[in-house]
Amino acid sequence: MMLGLMLARRGVPVTVLEAHHDFDRDFRGDTLHPAILEIIDQLDLSDKLHAIPHVKWTGPSLVVNGQVVARIDFGRLKTPFPYVMIVAQERFLELLAAEAAESPHFRLVMGAKVQELIEHDGTITGVRYRESGTDQWHEVHATLTVGADGRFSRVRHLAGIEPQILSKPMELLWFRLARRDGDAAKFDSVDALLRRKPLAVLNAADGSAAGFIRRGNRILMIAFNRIDHWQVAYIYPPGSYHELKAAGLDAFRQSVAALEPEFAPHLATLVDWSALSPLSVAFSRCRSWHRPGLLLIGDAAHVMTPAAGAGIKYAIEDAVEAANLLAAPLLTGTLNQQHLASVQRRREWPTRVMQRLASIQQRNLFTSLADRDVAQRPPGVPLILRFLLRIPWLRDLPARFIAFGVRRVRVRG
Ligand SMILES: Cc1cc2nc3c(=O)[nH]c(=O)nc-3n(C[C@H](O)[C@H](O)[C@H](O)COP(=O)(O)OP(=O)(O)OC[C@H]3O[C@@H](n4cnc5c(N)ncnc54)[C@H](O)[C@@H]3O)c2cc1C
Repeated sequence: MMLGLMLARRGVPVTVLEAHHDFDRDFRGDTLHPAILEIIDQLDLSDKLHAIPHVKWTGPSLVVNGQVVARIDFGRLKTPFPYVMIVAQERFLELLAAEAAESPHFRLVMGAKVQELIEHDGTITGVRYRESGTDQWHEVHATLTVGADGRFSRVRHLAGIEPQILSKPMELLWFRLARRDGDAAKFDSVDALLRRKPLAVLNAADGSAAGFIRRGNRILMIAFNRIDHWQVAYIYPPGSYHELKAAGLDAFRQSVAALEPEFAPHLATLVDWSALSPLSVAFSRCRSWHRPGLLLIGDAAHVMTPAAGAGIKYAIEDAVEAANLLAAPLLTGTLNQQHLASVQRRREWPTRVMQRLASIQQRNLFTSLADRDVAQRPPGVPLILRFLLRIPWLRDLPARFIAFGVRRVRVRG
């Protein structure tokens, strides 16, 4: 959607095909990092974005025995947007779609499930899609086909490009709990939360808490305040899903209530295992992100696990660099394979660095989850990071890296 918006604004005719009839997808994050908020500002959409209900998150504090021992603080970064915005991705995508629709060059087709590539002499020249719920097939012919269809990318598969798996999967149950009256008093004050000794507090820009992390026996639970509900990630050691499911829903509810006793009443609404989405996500990356006439971006090119918490940032930055590099050759009809390769060259290095660091973090987390000792030591936080966070002139490096990566991406043209 971001690439479609940017290309259409530059006068390139674009058709965006979306398999679903809406943008409401449960299995992806809702975070917009400072780098993305700067990009949105460069697109003149900042006011409209900030008008959507959101939470401003300034980073986690690590807590030991109720005391903050280290903090990653986006609030100190030199940027007009020193926070990660937590905003429903559905609303964000609706905003981009509405803005793109202002351009006569933009067309969005919802319920359009891409099923086949059209190929001539080794060059991809478009796609065939099926209208969802019908047997009607349509073709779209294009100079460039972009596979931005996520981690199970059909386009990638059809193009014969296989991602290399770079890590063990991160496995989690992803579910929602409705916020209840009284939650604000118990969970939204950092002091009140600290008294209950979580492993980490997620800080909001207004000084309140935007969520918390708890650790139990081989489990890590992260609860994000999403205004009217809690989005909960229940992370367990890879390979133990069947054990968890066999123990049953009651045992699961008890396990969550043991981690956070105040959630006991909330759990009454979890009456069916189907309310819990088991997700298994491994880091992966394609060796080549392109073929003649085709480019992969976002998760289709490189999957980030939730441990990175940055898949949206990297997907949007791919789109921005693709628009920066490809708009002119698309407009002049001079697009060639070198242009597509230049997008991968520009984006692969920052992606590699993030995947490498986040997979170390994820490995530490797994090691810690395999350990049955539930002592209050922070899991998966490398010593070096805890050390960095204590030195004044180094302490903002982790926040800066999470916020911007190895280089800032800007909208050009
Ligand atoms: C549980 C979980 C939590 C996460 N939390 C975070 C987080 O907090 N922060 C963060 O930055 N990232 C997070 N991520 C990662 C993030 O969601 C992804 O990296 C990001 O959404 C990738 O964007 P994308 O546009 O490449 O793909 P997607 O967001 O997956 O979008 C792909 C789109 O393509 C459509 N599509 C798929 N197949 C077809 C087809 N055949 N035809 C037409 N359309 C199709 C899909 O319907 C979808 O709308 C999380 C991921 C998971 C699984």
